[in-house]
Amino acid sequence: MAEQSAELSPILKQATPVLAARGEGVYIYDEDDRRYLDFTAGIGVTSTGHCHPKVVEAAQRQVATLVHGQYTTVMHRPLLRLTERLGSVLPAGVDRLFYVNSGSEAVEASLRLARQATGRQNAIVFQGSFHGRTMAAASLTTSGVKIRAGIGPLMPGVAVSPFPYAYRYGMSEEQASEFALRELDYLLATVSSPKDTAAIFIEPVLGEGGYVPAPASFLTGLRERADRHGILLVMDEVQTGFGRTGRFWGHDHAGVRPDIVITAKGLASGFPLSAIAAPSELMEKAWPGSQGGTYGGNAVSCAAALATLDVIEEEGLVDNAAQMGERLHKGLAQVADAHSVVGDVRGLGLMIGNEFTAADGSPDTEAAARAHRAAADKGLLLLTCGPHGNVVRMIPPLIVTADQVDAAVEIWAESVAQATA
Ligand code: PMP
Repeated sequence: MAEQSAELSPILKQATPVLAARGEGVYIYDEDDRRYLDFTAGIGVTSTGHCHPKVVEAAQRQVATLVHGQYTTVMHRPLLRLTERLGSVLPAGVDRLFYVNSGSEAVEASLRLARQATGRQNAIVFQGSFHGRTMAAASLTTSGVKIRAGIGPLMPGVAVSPFPYAYRYGMSEEQASEFALRELDYLLATVSSPKDTAAIFIEPVLGEGGYVPAPASFLTGLRERADRHGILLVMDEVQTGFGRTGRFWGHDHAGVRPDIVITAKGLASGFPLSAIAAPSELMEKAWPGSQGGTYGGNAVSCAAALATLDVIEEEGLVDNAAQMGERLHKGLAQVADAHSVVGDVRGLGLMIGNEFTAADGSPDTEAAARAHRAAADKGLLLLTCGPHGNVVRMIPPLIVTADQVDAAVEIWAESVAQATA
């Protein structure tokens, strides 16, 4: 077990026992130089791998040039260049940007933007959603009561509709999608009038809530409803963006146009940066000066983000995520076939969840925890998710190779076998 400081608050929970000394590519090394395959990527952040030389070089150069050009005081070139560059990867027309530091802040900023632009207050989210921990973002979060318990009252005006979680409902994806859309219509007729509803927030793959991809028909259905009622469709691409799902954006799988895109995590390979993108007509309805923040669009983070985009392009990381994701998915499905406790393997690209279910159909949190711990002991770092913590997720850097995928699957097979012995 890693050393813990007595002064460190027990409020922080550590998922693995590792004290990281350095990171290199897909590996983390501890202080004894033990090597771990990192299939957590700092919760989906270090997509170009740990300390990618190009990102390191860009950041080092920027540190020595200008660290903090506060963007509401003086503008700086890395932010301007990044804005131009992001315009080329964002959906057509959804290309007016501003920056803050984290996913939660970007979610809050999107809600403020949606309220100002529509003059409406309410937001609709889907059960299992994770949009962050700050108070408004926590109000939009239903991935588990640990985020909400004891901190209320939360922000009013948030209505929760079922997510098309096919496995949980024992339905096909199409059935789950139809069911969830019907329930959304019902919610709009009973709880949150379209006239009061500013935005629908959706993760293209439900993340912290259990790694469940939203079927394309569901996202198409959301677009239809958003158009019909003048509600803004906000894609929270904090975890799914930047190639993670094997397409540049998670919503690309459905070909659905968002009104607002939120991106963070993989955007800057580990430097704090998040961005909110929306069409100019929408941004123009917001009040100038109503958004911002001291550290938003930090020059070093912007330089790292530019280098991240270069690496993604030069190394074909979106395609690699699709190919390695397929390989990983296949390997994990074989492990699940051999062990009935893994009831479902699902995901898109390199964002894959393994759901542990007991014989009576209830979530098997203990078996998931045992497999997760056994994997760490064997040198494979993973995370759990889902309200019951019974989904073990794999979210390696997008640079992962076939050999590393195979090595991870081998360790996973041993870990699941050990957890169920
Ligand atoms: N949205 C999604 C989809 C996320 O996965 C997360 C973080 N897990 C957030 C928002 C919040 O991001 P942060 O932790 O940077 O505030």
